[in-house]
Amino acid sequence: MHAPTLVINCGSSSIKYALIPASAESPRQFGLAERLGSAEAILNGTDGRGESFARALPGADHATALETILGCLEGQHPGAVGHRIVHGGERFTRAVLIDDDVVAEIEATAALAPLHNPANLEGVMATRTLFPQLPQVAVFDTAFHQSLPPRAYRYALPEALYRDHGIRRYGFHGTSHAHVSSRADALAGIRGGWLTAHLGNGCSTCAVWQGESLDTSMGLTPLEGLVMGTRSGDVDPGLHAHLARQLGWSLDDIDRVLNRDSGLVGLSGLSNDMRELEQAASEGHAGARLAIEVFCYRVAKSLAALSCALPRLDGIVFTGGIGENASAVRQRIVAALPHFGIALDDDANDATVRGREGRIDAGGPQLWVIPTDEEGRIALETRQLIEEACA
Ligand code: ADP
Repeated sequence: MHAPTLVINCGSSSIKYALIPASAESPRQFGLAERLGSAEAILNGTDGRGESFARALPGADHATALETILGCLEGQHPGAVGHRIVHGGERFTRAVLIDDDVVAEIEATAALAPLHNPANLEGVMATRTLFPQLPQVAVFDTAFHQSLPPRAYRYALPEALYRDHGIRRYGFHGTSHAHVSSRADALAGIRGGWLTAHLGNGCSTCAVWQGESLDTSMGLTPLEGLVMGTRSGDVDPGLHAHLARQLGWSLDDIDRVLNRDSGLVGLSGLSNDMRELEQAASEGHAGARLAIEVFCYRVAKSLAALSCALPRLDGIVFTGGIGENASAVRQRIVAALPHFGIALDDDANDATVRGREGRIDAGGPQLWVIPTDEEGRIALETRQLIEEACA
């Protein structure tokens, strides 16, 4: 397939898109339509020459915004559309061509991702109406982790909760972990055992053995696991009952605090942004220092735990805005894992910044910084599926 692939990531009031050419050398066009449904709706994008543009879209809904986006692609016609779908439940173990049955199955998993799947589907419906002739593919955040064995995905809860309600660990950020672990295989020239750390606003770790996810830090929802920008990550499961009984908090209060007011912003009392925290910590802000310390310790602890899933540890891969840029954070995480026998190459670590792949170890298990490319991975899986369907 030589035509570019249009990748769409639809939120409740936003559409992130990227037009990915079949050849990695050609430039991409990408953009973000935000505040859809309001008078302030706006599309910001980059054209084929890398020039930025902005277009007001007052009152536009998803369908109108998509039509405008198409108009901005300057005559480049996508050969297929790849949709990011957050939750594929147990039904979807890989990308699938979208038909009415698939739409119904995605609707059926909405209870597991009530904020995401319905919004993702809006994009699917609008795009199917606009381009009835184009193949549309659903690529799921959860699918890469469907190779987890039961010992990794089951919670120690009554069996009926799993059997009747699908309560288990699913894992997220699958396209990112899949992309960076396969790049690590290519760069190292092995089908290896990797621990991947996706550290952005959302954060998760994954144990990948020969291309398959064997365990990951996120669970039923993207709240489990690491400390994130605004999400708490792991807390005592007894916390919810304690807050309800002792402080009279409602479920909505608890949900909001754990998802929006916790993590780096909760610990620091300052910001969810690692750059701001590093700056404040260097000026002596105690909350910022503590937030960074807890963040790094919890990443290291998660990597140590996930190492149990691997028959052999070949290395660790850092990705995401923090993982790709914050060399001091990488240094702290590696320093907390002396028993892995890893040695950091400080100069290589300091020199490796966003957009660049780099090897940063000086012996022992390998350490890599690999920029994530979730859109590129969605386009790749979309193309592969269509080529298989045509073969
Ligand atoms: P998202 O998960 O929303 O895609 P990103 O992957 O872009 O977000 O990660 C955002 C995080 O990356 C923020 O905490 C930001 O401060 C951090 N970050 C970006 N650049 C740097 C930098 N140069 N140094 C430290 N942290 C950085």
